[in-house]
Amino acid sequence: MGRVLKIDMTYGESGFIDVPPDFEGRGGRGLVPAFASDPTLEPLAPDNTLVFAPGLLAGTSCPGSGRISVGCQSPVTGWLVASNAGGMAGHHLKCMGIDAIVIEGAPDPPKGFFNMVVTKDGAKVAPTSVRNRNISKALPELRGMYGDACSYILTGIGGDQKCPMANIAVTGPDLQPSSRFGNGGAGAVLGSKLIKAIVIDPRGAPPLVPMSPEFEKAVQRFTELAKETSKAKTERGKGCMPNCAVPCMRKAPEGKGVTAEKKPKAFSFIAKTDPELADKFMDLCDDMGLGAWEIARSVQTLSPENKPPWNVLLKNIRGRNPAGLFILFQRPELFAERMGIPVSNLYNPWAEQSPEKTMEDCVMDELGLCRKACVKALKNIDGLHTAAEMISALLHKEVTAFDISENSYNTAYFEMRYRSRIPFDK
Ligand code: SF4
Repeated sequence: MGRVLKIDMTYGESGFIDVPPDFEGRGGRGLVPAFASDPTLEPLAPDNTLVFAPGLLAGTSCPGSGRISVGCQSPVTGWLVASNAGGMAGHHLKCMGIDAIVIEGAPDPPKGFFNMVVTKDGAKVAPTSVRNRNISKALPELRGMYGDACSYILTGIGGDQKCPMANIAVTGPDLQPSSRFGNGGAGAVLGSKLIKAIVIDPRGAPPLVPMSPEFEKAVQRFTELAKETSKAKTERGKGCMPNCAVPCMRKAPEGKGVTAEKKPKAFSFIAKTDPELADKFMDLCDDMGLGAWEIARSVQTLSPENKPPWNVLLKNIRGRNPAGLFILFQRPELFAERMGIPVSNLYNPWAEQSPEKTMEDCVMDELGLCRKACVKALKNIDGLHTAAEMISALLHKEVTAFDISENSYNTAYFEMRYRSRIPFDK
């Protein structure tokens, strides 16, 4: 039976509960609906539940499998956030036998800011000294306090100030923030619970979840397929999490605390003419804990012809003016008003994606597999059957490729209902 670590920030209490029976054997994005808050609530209200759930295959030797999903109501769209990240946190949680962390409530009155330390025995919350620090300043201090055996999930100043586009960074094997929960503003929800960082301390847990020989055989086949089919460029050489068969990350500049995510497409016209400026934009957003993709998408929605909002944005980036950039996106409605833009445009930056792509993402996120490393392997019928074999060996029951697809359909259906704000009992 899976276990979930539940933390109530209103009373500072925590404890383990079982995974609800209907969600037994589910993981990552597929577990989020079990705990999602009512879609009619306010995203930054204490009742918005924040869920971190590692994929089913996290903690195993399967390549590119440690991705972790975050779920909550999005302060950007009001939809259910479906964002996921690499790094070590998913891997560590599964090795500690934790299928999800569910954070409810918020301190009342809203005073102070906290770090949450998660061990295999539970969670403890303690006041933090790194509130309102950017990630490059906060992370070294946290590492000094809690040590290098841990993985860190943390926000920058964007999350601390509940900026709607705040993201959450996750540290990788080199203890740099190698990956981010970028979409949907989950950093603001973490900030609304007055949490700066979640420290995952895996000491006392095994380095890998022990698996049967059948599982390892299936992993070998899947690894070969992933290597043959991956879009990732192996020559770039750095992995954002353990067991990646095709590590693709650029090395982060020393001491910068930034990652090497690819640049938002919406920003590509700047990257083409001024790559240095594009890098600056990414660095600044990463360090402040702001979603570069989210911002680029919004600005593009506001100004498809690269007119005024881009100019304001670029001026702030050129001057490396975090305050200017921050104000711009902390109060987007004021910004829109000043620019004479309907606010509804600002809050609808995400293009609808096809149901086929949503289903595909739900499969990847449920299993915890990296899209870049594994999506082609999984689209191959042999790959999907091999994944089903891995899950069968993992759960000690027969799971078919059809079961995997059906689960992802159910997750996608739930998310669609959530978008229409239909209460769950209807
Ligand atoms: S392919 Fe890149 S993003 Fe995916 S797991 Fe490997 S290093 Fe991380």
